[in-house]
Amino acid sequence: MIPKADLHCHSTCSDGSLTPEELVLLAAEKGLCGLSITDHDTVAAYPHIISFAREHHIQMITGVELSAFHEGKSVHVLGYNFNPLNETLLDFCAQHTGRRLKRNKLILELLDRQGFHIAEEELYQNQSNTIGRPHIADLLVKKGYIKDIQTAFKKLLGDGKACYAQGPVFSVEDTLAVIRAAGGISVLAHPHLMHNKKFVRKVIALGFDGIECDYATFPMELNAPWHSLANELNLLKTAGSDFHGSKKPGIPLGASAISLDESNPFVAKSFLC
Ligand code: AMP
Ligand code: ZN
Ligand code: FE
Ligand code: FE
Repeated sequence: MIPKADLHCHSTCSDGSLTPEELVLLAAEKGLCGLSITDHDTVAAYPHIISFAREHHIQMITGVELSAFHEGKSVHVLGYNFNPLNETLLDFCAQHTGRRLKRNKLILELLDRQGFHIAEEELYQNQSNTIGRPHIADLLVKKGYIKDIQTAFKKLLGDGKACYAQGPVFSVEDTLAVIRAAGGISVLAHPHLMHNKKFVRKVIALGFDGIECDYATFPMELNAPWHSLANELNLLKTAGSDFHGSKKPGIPLGASAISLDESNPFVAKSFLC
C-alpha cells in the first residue's frame, strides 16, 4: 500500500475542533504517513508540531490557507513547504489578524442591528489565533440565537447574506509573493467551489505552482476536471480533506490524500527536500 498524506486540515489555531497534536494523533490512527495543517491565515501550529509529528511517525509539511480576493471574488491560497519562522510570512499573518479585527467588528455591528447581540469581548475570549465567521457562528449557536453553524452561514454570515461584511482584503498576487518569499510553493485550494472554470484559469495564471485536484469527500467525476487542467498547465496536483473536526461534520481526516510516491512531483518538491 502506498503511504498517503492529507494536505489540508484545520486545527484549533483557526477554526478546527482538534488541536495540532490531536490532528497528528488522529492522522496516525488513520494510517496516514504525512500531514499538512493548513490553518486559515496563521502558522501558529508551527514549528513545534513538526517534532511531535515525527515522534508519531507522521511526516509533517508546513502549510497555511491564506484568504485572498481577485476581482471581488474570494480565493483561498494554500502555501506549503515554507519556513514557518520567515519574517515576511509572520508579518503577513499579523496583517491578517488586523484585517479580521476590522471585519469582525463590521459583522458584529450588522448582527446587532438584526437583534443578535455578541460583544467583541465574547468573541475574543476564544483562544484561536485566527478568529472569523466560524467563531461568530459558534457564538450565535451557543447564545441560542441560531440552531447550528450551517444555518448561521445560510441565514446570516454566508457570502452576500444579511450580516456578511467583506472588510479589507489582500490580493492573490501579494499572497503568492509572500509564500514565495518564505521559500514555499502555492496551490489553489478547492477550485471545485469556485463554479467558474474561466475564472480558475485566470487566477492560476497569476502564478500558482499547483492545484488541489482531490478535495474533501468529492467523487472522482468532480475531481477529474481539475486533474485535466493540472495536466494541461503542468501544475502540481495536491489532495486534502479540509477536515475541521466537529466544526464541519461529515468530512473525515484523510477523505482526500496524495500518495507519498517519489514519482509524484509534489512529493519530490516538498517532502523529499
Ligand atoms: P472567514 O475566513 O472568516 O471568512 O470564514 C470562512 C470559513 O468559514 C471557511 O473557510 C470555512 O472554514 C467556514 N465556513 C464557510 N461556510 C461554512 C458553512 N456553511 N458551515 C461551516 N463552516 C463554514
Ligand atoms: Zn475553515
Ligand atoms: Fe478554504
Ligand atoms: Fe480549508
